[in-house]
Amino acid sequence: MAGENKQLNENGEYEVKVETEHLKCSACGGNMVFDPDKQMLFCEHCGTTQVIDGQSHAVELDLDGAFFSDNKWESDESLVFTCDNCGAKVVLNKNETAKECPFCGTGHVQETEALSGIKPNAVIPFKLGLEKAIEITKNWARKKFFAPRNFKKNLKTENVKGVYTPCFTFDSKTSSTYVGRIGKTHTRVVGSGKNRRTETYTVWRNISGTYFHNFNDILVSAGEKVDQGKIDKMSPFDTENSKTYEESFLLGFMAYHYDKEVTNMWAEAKGRMDVVLRKLILSQYSYDKVSYLNVSTCHENVTYKYVMLPVYVGNFNYRSKLFNFYVNGETGKVIGKTPKSPWKILLTVLLSMAVIAGSVLLFFLLNS
Ligand SMILES: [Zn+2]
Ligand SMILES: [Zn+2]
Repeated sequence: MAGENKQLNENGEYEVKVETEHLKCSACGGNMVFDPDKQMLFCEHCGTTQVIDGQSHAVELDLDGAFFSDNKWESDESLVFTCDNCGAKVVLNKNETAKECPFCGTGHVQETEALSGIKPNAVIPFKLGLEKAIEITKNWARKKFFAPRNFKKNLKTENVKGVYTPCFTFDSKTSSTYVGRIGKTHTRVVGSGKNRRTETYTVWRNISGTYFHNFNDILVSAGEKVDQGKIDKMSPFDTENSKTYEESFLLGFMAYHYDKEVTNMWAEAKGRMDVVLRKLILSQYSYDKVSYLNVSTCHENVTYKYVMLPVYVGNFNYRSKLFNFYVNGETGKVIGKTPKSPWKILLTVLLSMAVIAGSVLLFFLLNS
């Protein structure tokens, strides 16, 4: 917690003093929020809009600089809240009023610390508004046959929140040397007369060489709640056209604080690149078996972006079980599980049993 910003007010309570004049409406002093439809700031109170200055392309940063970065959060910008119920670390703007965990929907969030660590340098602003995200989710749920009616009907804005999710993208110029042994299966006809038959055999060959490849924006999730698997399923995100990070884009939205270290994320990115490189190297050959392939890769000109991705996080409690779903705030792609109605499952089982029984009966009638 940023101690120096706390002051006692006349009621003897601590209040947080915030310097956010630029985030207030110039006409009425109300709180401005980012409006995905207009891509502008919008006053919730009087409707005044304000263009966000300097919406430039985010730049790539040197990986070496990440460990000594000056690009740190300032203590008076935002606070981290930790959910007592599910452990999510959520970043709220100081003028955010709804203090509710977007992942589990409970209000058991505690203000825990001022933001630390490096600050994002890039952001993909939300392109879909909340109403649109709800509509998309309802359509998605409607197509889920087993989803219970009350899930389809009762999805409300309270269930869904816009949460900027931390990711890192890495670029690297790679050069790899490799040695390996690969095989290709062939068939031949052997023998004669009665013994004439087809047999298969493998032709093995040793391979070696050098391979060059430039990677652009390999995306690595930095948060455990919205992990790599979820990011991959929601992809693509247009990281290539991400904007320079501005606090304005986060107004009215939550953000999710990263859990992992930059060095670990770089290690993960290298792992993902290794998988791609093996495929690319092998794709030069005709083979169907790999005995071994050893690849040694050098990375040059490594750069990264710490980018906030727009994700709507939904939570829904059904029979005291929590279900989460996620919507890509740029494309509207929905992922996640819906609850399943036990009645619909039972009905389906009964119906299929009836169909089987009917078919058996028909079979006997026709054959008697
Ligand atoms: Zn206003
Ligand atoms: Zn929670």
